[in-house]
Amino acid sequence: MNIHEYQAKELLGRYGVTVLQGHVAWTPDEAVEAAKRLPGPVYVVKSQIHAGGRGAGRFKEDPNGKGGVRVVKSVEDVRAAAEAMIGKTLVTKQTGDAGKVVSRVYVEDGCDIKRELYLGLLVDRATSRLTIMASTEGGMEIEEVAEHHPEKILKAAIDPASGISGFHARKLAFGLGLTGKQVASFTKFVTSLYGAFQELDCAIVEINPLVVTGAGEIVALDAKVSFDDNALFRHKDLEALRDDTEMDPKELDAVKNDLNYVALDGEIGCMVNGAGLAMATMDIIKLYGSSPANFLDVGGTANAARVTEAFRIITSDANVKAILVNIFGGIAKCDMIANGIVEASKNLSLSVPLVVRLEGTNVELGKKILAESGLAIIPAENLADAAQKVVAAVNESRASGTTKGA
Ligand code: ADP
Ligand code: MG
Repeated sequence: MNIHEYQAKELLGRYGVTVLQGHVAWTPDEAVEAAKRLPGPVYVVKSQIHAGGRGAGRFKEDPNGKGGVRVVKSVEDVRAAAEAMIGKTLVTKQTGDAGKVVSRVYVEDGCDIKRELYLGLLVDRATSRLTIMASTEGGMEIEEVAEHHPEKILKAAIDPASGISGFHARKLAFGLGLTGKQVASFTKFVTSLYGAFQELDCAIVEINPLVVTGAGEIVALDAKVSFDDNALFRHKDLEALRDDTEMDPKELDAVKNDLNYVALDGEIGCMVNGAGLAMATMDIIKLYGSSPANFLDVGGTANAARVTEAFRIITSDANVKAILVNIFGGIAKCDMIANGIVEASKNLSLSVPLVVRLEGTNVELGKKILAESGLAIIPAENLADAAQKVVAAVNESRASGTTKGA
């Protein structure tokens, strides 16, 4: 789960991470009020969306105007900046062409920036440790630095038994070229950040840029925090920070129905039980020349209701040209799944070809239910057969569509 910059800063601040003063604002009036509570005379108005690259991004409504992060020098300019952002669509390198609507801005104290650095914390699967990454190339995307200047990325893997120590922080600080008072400030910063990461069960924390101020202070100028969804049950209070408007509506729907769903850009809707089987199904669709419109794992305990929900989500995607159901009946028996499929097909009056491959407990009964349903379900014998049939169905409907159009 991702959260907004202003929420991340508020949280990290509680753990002792140095952030600047700032207030969130939902209207230009609120932005003015927010600015009046700050020391000034320099203010920064920052669009709040779940995507980076805001500074260099542009608003759809004003493509030749300024970006999604603006440094201004008066309260009236704060109002103008907020008016230019709120309710407008910001397009950045990370949003895709559609962009994201800015519903609120963060009005922050202007910072006297001396240097911009990068600091990231993540779980490194290779070492099974929380790893701190730092770089002198602040403001740049870390992926780009990794590609072109891997030598500029400093790393420190933290042993979970002993935790973070002064030597980790000093090693990074000296690598970043920090001196004197900056080293102490950095040590406090990175130690607090590590504490927050652990306590909050984060997946990624990225401070880009981390800045050295004119006064030698180390401050988080930007903050991206992402939580480990599997640990969210331990942090009920964090649920309140979820911003549904930032999620793909189909994915949101899936979360609410306990389905593991990821929207993709292909044309074959997939309904599968078990993540491994779902991955294999996506692979084989690719092998036979098409591509999946989604990843969807209905879970080992799929029942008729969840099958119906899954169908509803898949068919709400206009890109879906055919559906492939690939279910292995274990705990969920094939006859029950078959009944779910029949019910859902009738309720939703499916308009695209449906290929079903069932295997496992009560498979014969399941196949019989499908065959006798009177619905135009295409049965498949095995995974390869299913994939070939669904790809053929897509190609056929495309061919007939072209004929109709001509
Ligand atoms: P994004 O990464 O989405 O572009 P950032 O928060 O990193 O957004 O801001 C982009 C740039 O704007 C920063 O690299 C920094 O130069 C400037 N900036 C952001 N916040 C402030 C601030 N409070 N004071 C001065 N400059 C800022
Ligand atoms: Mg940034």
